[in-house]
Amino acid sequence: MDSCVFCKIVRGEIPSEKIYEDADVFAFHDIHPAAPIHFMLIPKLHIGSLDEVEDKHRSLLGEMMVLIPRLAREQGCTDGFRTIINTGRVGGQEVHHLHIHIVGGSERLPAMIHHPR
Ligand code: AMP
Repeated sequence: MDSCVFCKIVRGEIPSEKIYEDADVFAFHDIHPAAPIHFMLIPKLHIGSLDEVEDKHRSLLGEMMVLIPRLAREQGCTDGFRTIINTGRVGGQEVHHLHIHIVGGSERLPAMIHHPR
């Protein structure tokens, strides 16, 4: 996708703080970290969101899930972390290229969703 920010990061057209890359995936620090450790794992293939995932992406997604704990450990998540995939309007997705946020640090993270009762 020519205009997609994360595709541009994969192609090196926009700078990023890369932490990992292989033939299928790319990981980099979030530009606006929400916690002391906050990076993103994305497929190189442009998939707009989790809503656009198909059966053919099964092994790619599996690869990503298996990679997450290794990258999280390498980044300093020694006692857990949180993974977030914002999807679509309701999910508050801002960048329309599937991405998994990996968030952590030394302190326990706050509750994920605050819904007024
Ligand atoms: P989401 O709301 O799940 O779509 O999150 C998009 C995330 O991408 C946000 O946390 C942004 O801070 C992050 N982001 C946007 N542009 C860049 C960039 N050029 N480099 C690194 N992170 C970015």
